[in-house]
Amino acid sequence: MENYRDENIVTIAKAVTRGVSLDFEVNEDFLIMHTLGKIRGAPIYYEKNDPLLFSFYEHAKSVSPSIFDLVTLGSNKDKTRIGYSFERYHDWEDTFNDAPGVMRAYVASLKRDARFAKILSETLERARECKAQWENNYDATKATVEALTGLDLDKNISVYITHPRLNCGKVIETVNGVPSVNWGMNDLWPNYTTVYLWHEALHWFFEHPGLHDKWTKEDIEKFNIDHVIIQLIADYELALQLNGDANYLPHKTGEWHFPKAMEKALPIWNRYKEEGVLNVYRLREMLSADKGVR
Ligand SMILES: [Zn+2]
Repeated sequence: MENYRDENIVTIAKAVTRGVSLDFEVNEDFLIMHTLGKIRGAPIYYEKNDPLLFSFYEHAKSVSPSIFDLVTLGSNKDKTRIGYSFERYHDWEDTFNDAPGVMRAYVASLKRDARFAKILSETLERARECKAQWENNYDATKATVEALTGLDLDKNISVYITHPRLNCGKVIETVNGVPSVNWGMNDLWPNYTTVYLWHEALHWFFEHPGLHDKWTKEDIEKFNIDHVIIQLIADYELALQLNGDANYLPHKTGEWHFPKAMEKALPIWNRYKEEGVLNVYRLREMLSADKGVR
């Protein structure tokens, strides 16, 4: 019964839904790998702007250049992508198991470093802020998302918090079977974290390109439409609900993906809301029918 989805039971399901339950976590190993991998993607920026993060990065490189490469580029798979995803983290864990002594000693020494202690405490502090803000806004925003989509919002999601100055917000994958997202950002405007955690969480209610390659053109088209839907619900509607100020909306701050499609989608969104039959699959049909959105 749990996985049974039928539009006729949406109303009943709503009454018993447990909601979206976010579990905020800081994983020290992932934090190290994410920090080093992200900086490796833009070292000049961090050298200029962030002495703490950059100095830890330089330190990690100097302890062992070869292990540093494994940590930041991944071990078993293609070594071309800068490694800051959980997928890379699992590569790294495999390497841990292949060469436990060397890897564990390297990681243990990084964990003892005073700069890492500071990075960790800043990340933990940020995790507490994100959790508090999410909980504070949860009831009101959940009611809105539910009402606007008709979705049965019943999911547990792990949120892996990483350092807020590394600017990362993305869906990762299931970690130990639990759908997960990575969030490591400061708020650019009020309630920013709430809006974007809803955005990332909502990706888990649609299909998304995670670890499965081989996406067809149709898959990508559908994903893009779903992304437009997510932005309308979270980035637009929730930002407006929480801040009541159109200046923070992403089309003013230039933050949303597919700006042209979003401009076309907004009038359709308003029409959808006026219709009063709020069902996200109906919305997808309405948006798919518009060439400008597709
Ligand atoms: Zn997204």
